[in-house]
Amino acid sequence: MATQTLIDHLAVAPVAAGRLLIGGDWVDGQDAPLPVLSPINGRQLTTLASASAADVDRAVATARAAFDDGRWSRQPPAARKAVLHRLADLIQTHALELAVLGVRDNGTEISMALRAEPGSAAGTFRYYAEALDKVYGEIAPTAPDVLGLIHREPVGVVAAIVPWNFPLMIGAWKLAPALAMGNSVVLKPAETASLSLLRLAELALEAGLPPGVLNVVTGPGHVTGQALGLSMDADVLVFTGSGATGRRLLDYSARSNLKRCYLELGGKSPNIVFADAPDLAAAAKAAATAIFRNAGQVCVAGSRLLVDRAVQDDFLAALAQATQKMTPGNPLDLSTQIGAVNSEPQLDRNLGFIADAQAEGGRLVLGGHRALVETGGWYLEPTIIADVAPHHRLFQHEVFGPVLSVTPFETEAEAIGLANATDYGLAAGVWTGNLSRAHRMVRAIRAGVVHVNTYGGADGTVPLGGVRQSGNGHDKSLHALDKYTDLKTAWIQI
Ligand code: NAD
Repeated sequence: MATQTLIDHLAVAPVAAGRLLIGGDWVDGQDAPLPVLSPINGRQLTTLASASAADVDRAVATARAAFDDGRWSRQPPAARKAVLHRLADLIQTHALELAVLGVRDNGTEISMALRAEPGSAAGTFRYYAEALDKVYGEIAPTAPDVLGLIHREPVGVVAAIVPWNFPLMIGAWKLAPALAMGNSVVLKPAETASLSLLRLAELALEAGLPPGVLNVVTGPGHVTGQALGLSMDADVLVFTGSGATGRRLLDYSARSNLKRCYLELGGKSPNIVFADAPDLAAAAKAAATAIFRNAGQVCVAGSRLLVDRAVQDDFLAALAQATQKMTPGNPLDLSTQIGAVNSEPQLDRNLGFIADAQAEGGRLVLGGHRALVETGGWYLEPTIIADVAPHHRLFQHEVFGPVLSVTPFETEAEAIGLANATDYGLAAGVWTGNLSRAHRMVRAIRAGVVHVNTYGGADGTVPLGGVRQSGNGHDKSLHALDKYTDLKTAWIQI
C-alpha cells in the first residue's frame, strides 16, 4: 500500500491511551480523564488518563523499588545494551505508526515528523546503547599510600517532563541516556502530545525493559507535573519546555528534596545574514525553513532575522518568495510543508504577538492571519514582520509559532549587539563568506549552538542546550550522560 494510504488508515490512538503505566501495568488515573483534541480539525481524538499527586507518588515509589532491587540497574551492560537496541528496532518497525500518532495530537507535518520523531528516537536509543559500556570510572593521581577510585553510578530515579513539539525525539533524548546508565524513570509527556510516547512505552516493555523501570504519568502540568517536581524521592529532574515552567520546577526542587534540575528552555534565536554571504538565495530559503517548519514550534527556530541593511530589500523579496511556497496544510498529507499549531490557546497567543508587533511599529510583510479555518483545525499563515526594534515584544519574547521578526543592521558590531540583546541563548545562524568573520561571530554570540552558512543542522554526536535563560544541561552526545550519573569516591588506604 502507498505510504499516504497507510497513513490515512492508521490507528487514531495507541491501545494504552487513557491509562498510566505504573510498575508494568496500564492503570487508570485517579483524576478525571482529559480530552485529547486534534489540532488537525479541532475534534476530540481520545482521552488521556490524569495522574493525581498520589498516582505520581506511586509511580516514583515503583521506580525506586525497581532501581533498588537491581532488576535493571544491576544488569550487566551487555544486557541493557541488548534491550535498548531491541527498542530501537521496534521503533523503526513501527516508525510510521509512531509518527502518525504524534502528528494526530501535536500537528507537526508528517514529512518532518517521520524524520525528526521515530527516526531520531531510534538513533538516540542506539547511540546510548552503544555508549553505555564505554563509560569508565577513574583512578585519581593520589599519593602512593592511598588509592582514590572515582566511580560513576546511576542517580536512581529520573523524573522527565517533556513538551509537545517533538515528543518522541525529545523524550528519547531523556529516556535513552537515563536508561542506558541504569536509572529508573518516571516520564510525564505534554497533555497535547502524549500518544506517541505512550506507544513508545508499550514498545519498551515489548523490548524487554523490566516492569517498573519506565513509568509514564499523563495529565495536566500544574497537577501531574507539579507532583513530580515536588516528589521527595526523584533524584534528578530533566525538563524541556518553557521558561515559566522551568522557574516553577526550580521552586519545586527547593521546596522538596533539592533534586538536581536540568532545564532545556526556549529561545529567540538570531539568524544573521551579512551582505557577503556566499549564496543569498540559499540563505533566504534556509531562513524560511528555519522559522516556518513545524509551524515555528521548534526550540532552535531562527525567529529573529538580522539582515545587513545593504541587502535587506532584496533578501526580504527572496524570503517572501520562498515562504509563499510554504502554505499550511493537512499535517497528515505527505506533501504538506507547514502543519498545524498545536492548540487553540497557542494559536491565539501567536495572533496576539502579530497584533502587538504591528501596534509597536512592525511592518507586516507576509501572512498574519489564521488559515484553513473551514477545517476546524488551528493553522496560521507563515508571517514575516519587518522593522522590528530591539525593545519590541516580538524581538524579545519567544512566540513558538510561524512568526519571523526582521531587523536590519549596518556593522558586524551592531549585529553582535542585536544577536545578544535578549535574555535567551539557545541557537544562532550566521551567513557570511568571510572565514574570519564567521569565527569571530561564533565566539561573540552567546548561544549553545551557532550554525554557519546553514541553519538547524545537528546529529546525536553534538550537544543541544542553551545558555542564559535558555537553560542549563545539554541533551545528546556523551556529555548528556553526566546528568544521569553521580560521582562517588572510594578512598582506600593501602
Ligand atoms: P511547557 O513548559 O508549557 O510544558 C512543558 C511540559 O511541562 C509539559 O509536559 C507540561 O505539562 C509540563 N508543565 C506545565 N506546567 C507545569 C507545572 N506547573 N509543573 C510541572 N510541569 C508542568 O512548554 P511547552 O509549551 O510544552 O513547550 C514549548 C517550550 O519548550 C518552548 O519554550 C520551547 O522553546 C521549549 N523547547 C525547548 C527545547 C530545548 O531543547 N531547549 C526543545 C523543545 C522545546
